[in-house]
Amino acid sequence: LTGQLQQAQKLESVGLLVSGIAHDFNNMLGGILGYSGRGLARISTSHPLYHNLAHIHEIATRAAKMTQQLLAFSRRQVLEPSDVDLNKVTKNLIEFLGKILADHVDIVFVPDPELKMVHVDYAQIEQVLMNLCINAHDAMAEGGCLTISTRNIGYEESLRISHGEIQPDNYILLSVQDTGVGMDEQTRSRIFEPFFTTKEVGKGTGLGLSMVHGIIGQHNGYITVESEIGKGTTFNIYLPSVEQNRTVPLSSSYPFDESEQ
Ligand code: ADP
Repeated sequence: LTGQLQQAQKLESVGLLVSGIAHDFNNMLGGILGYSGRGLARISTSHPLYHNLAHIHEIATRAAKMTQQLLAFSRRQVLEPSDVDLNKVTKNLIEFLGKILADHVDIVFVPDPELKMVHVDYAQIEQVLMNLCINAHDAMAEGGCLTISTRNIGYEESLRISHGEIQPDNYILLSVQDTGVGMDEQTRSRIFEPFFTTKEVGKGTGLGLSMVHGIIGQHNGYITVESEIGKGTTFNIYLPSVEQNRTVPLSSSYPFDESEQ
């Protein structure tokens, strides 16, 4: 028992140390990102230093992603949910990504104009989307297309995805699809494990998708992955819509809603 206690204490102090360092680095990176972003917005793309600046900005973005993952990992975050329009979150993020991702990746957004609101923690969902997009970008070193789409999903699909748990018509789907290298089954089965990465040292922490998985779970959502080597990968995220969260769960004696078609 003493051994276990010591181990727990050690882990706790490592966590504190990591979060302390990550916190300071995050602030410094904020400065680098802010200044390089402002610089990029002011100089023309033909300026001889434009690409250097863009490179600084991209590397700082990666470093910020890592420190944020370390921060999120070393302390459990409390959710601060509000009603959020995922089309808006996606649009803002795409604008940002358009500036930092390499030119060889096309970004396409296919929003559902009737998309229902979701009750989520804005910063955390943004983090989820950001992680998925950066992974997609990494998977398309040779170029390709990143497609993000949103959709209200229907009854049949809800039931299929949730194995019967989802109530009809009350979920939305957020898809992030790439035409990148894809994954084999062995990789696919491990991607949500903390610290699992196939990237070289310094490029990946292996924490991105385990965080994504944790955040979606905390929001009572679901995540599925389809991938094929050489073809690409699709992450599907299902989140309860606002109506779903506010609805009193159906009593078990009424397994089928009368309004069901
Ligand atoms: P990291 O990006 O730091 O490696 P993640 O947890 O985000 O950590 O991803 C874990 C692994 O999952 C990656 O190293 C990669 O092998 C695989 N992966 C994630 N997204 C994709 C994708 N869109 N296409 C191909 N492989 C992917």
